[in-house]
Amino acid sequence: MYKGTSASAGIGIGKAVIVEEAELVITRQAVGDGEAEVQRFKGALEQTIKDTERLAEDLATRVGEKEAEIMQGHMMLLSDPMLTGEIENSIKNDGVNSEFAIENLCNMYADMFASMGDELMQQRATDMRDIKTRMQRVLMGIQSVDISSLPAGSILVAKDLTPSMTAGINPANVTGIVTELGGRTSHSAILARALEIPAVVAVNGFIEGVKDGDDVVLDGSTGEVHVNPEAAVKADYEAKKVRFQEEKKELEQFIGKASVTKDGVRVEIVANIGKPEDVDKVLEYDGEGIGLFRTEFLFMDRTAMPTEEEQFEAYKKVAAAMNGKPVIIRTLDIGGDKEIPYMGLEKDENPFLGYRAIRFCLDRREDVYKPQLRALLRASAFGNIRIMVPLVTCIEEYREAKALVEELKKELDSKGIAYNKDIQVGIMVETAAASLIADIFAKEADFFSIGTNDLTQYTMSVDRGNKKVSYLYSTFNPAVLRSIRHIIACAREAGIMVGMCGEAASDPMMIPLLLAFGLNEFSMSASAMLKARKMVMSYSTRELQAVADKAMGFATAAETEQYMKEFVENGTV
Ligand code: PEP
Ligand code: MG
Repeated sequence: MYKGTSASAGIGIGKAVIVEEAELVITRQAVGDGEAEVQRFKGALEQTIKDTERLAEDLATRVGEKEAEIMQGHMMLLSDPMLTGEIENSIKNDGVNSEFAIENLCNMYADMFASMGDELMQQRATDMRDIKTRMQRVLMGIQSVDISSLPAGSILVAKDLTPSMTAGINPANVTGIVTELGGRTSHSAILARALEIPAVVAVNGFIEGVKDGDDVVLDGSTGEVHVNPEAAVKADYEAKKVRFQEEKKELEQFIGKASVTKDGVRVEIVANIGKPEDVDKVLEYDGEGIGLFRTEFLFMDRTAMPTEEEQFEAYKKVAAAMNGKPVIIRTLDIGGDKEIPYMGLEKDENPFLGYRAIRFCLDRREDVYKPQLRALLRASAFGNIRIMVPLVTCIEEYREAKALVEELKKELDSKGIAYNKDIQVGIMVETAAASLIADIFAKEADFFSIGTNDLTQYTMSVDRGNKKVSYLYSTFNPAVLRSIRHIIACAREAGIMVGMCGEAASDPMMIPLLLAFGLNEFSMSASAMLKARKMVMSYSTRELQAVADKAMGFATAAETEQYMKEFVENGTV
């Protein structure tokens, strides 16, 4: 079995079709008539622009306007007078052939984009290389591999897929995609998701191990790929495929429904996101808001901190897209397992217990925290933004963060800049200390969101990433469950909203317990939301009290989890 990165959910079963673009050999050739060669280049450029326009139109009608934007990005590069001007100059001044001039200049820009480290810029580098080879192919009269007419039931296998290749895919014939390169956020992965073709990317050494026509099965959710599987494995995947499709269809019925229990308790099913683009899926799956925007992703994969302006744009985009629905944005949570090299953080002896999250932000308030809080306040004029402070352990940390927000509000007032004067400032309850004094926090904080990923780690004293001790890492441990129940009770007592944004919020075995405890908001990955809504709608919180009482009576995590499993699967108490 091969294992890669899951890029697009679903089960793909079919025959491998290996798509390899012939490597172009570009040589430097002296040209006598520079003017004629420039005309040759212009002809190829025009042809490439036409082809791209056609791809964009085709994508817009087949998939959607948003996906077509990727091809429009290619058009922008192709019509950039700086790039084309430099290519023309090189042809004339250096007396070289068009292919060579294109090779040099496009590579120079692609390398420059790639060196910026930022994910968006990496994508721009891929786009630049894509238009380069397409112009060269036109010049050299080499046909691109046409993947629009692959036979039905094909599993497309490639080293990497360029966006223009992916755009040409006919989903009626391609039942899966496997590539050796690429990442979850590469344009080809985004397109695969939009086309709803199961895809696994970054599968090491896959092309070595597969031939054209081999049987391939893949699971786009787990990243597993098998070549020529045994009959039993194939049958397993066939059954999984049927289940996946049935479940997807069934869950679509829950779009547009209110997340209300049988006894009329209304909760919110909201999403965790890391980037503004993630909002598309949240809207598609009818999210009732954003329960956690992990802003550290805006700071990662780049060489310098995002400016206040860049942050403002990102927060505003999410707030506006969610159109008045709550958007909880967590202030920078770095340190621990999340490193950002340019921030100048030294290696801590115990990173999870060290200089991180709110501790770091309060220390770096001038250059890091204030710009972020100011960006959040300014963006709050465009939607329902709430600020969330991570990893608090004592009330002073919350008070200091809140005081900074108040100070920045005054500053914005004096400049006449708009913001939401009633903006809520809440906390993540994710440390043992915060849980123990949740009653104290509940008197001052505007809301709670329980971060079970860390709460479990800190309650059980178990590194959340250490496999050797992972047997201790369970939210079902009585210590963690009591902590969760206590936090929710304190919030309810004080009348503030209490949500959960750790992984436990979408765990089917946890949802009935959380409903019984009185959790108001469940935040999870967008794709898990409809299933959670379905579960919420199938229970009555009153009936769940007995289940919770029994679950809380067990001495071990294993017993509690087993009991909840039986309850969820068979309804037995
Ligand atoms: C958590 O700790 O539960 C949480 C949601 O935050 P993160 O996983 O980003 O630490
Ligand atoms: Mg956390």
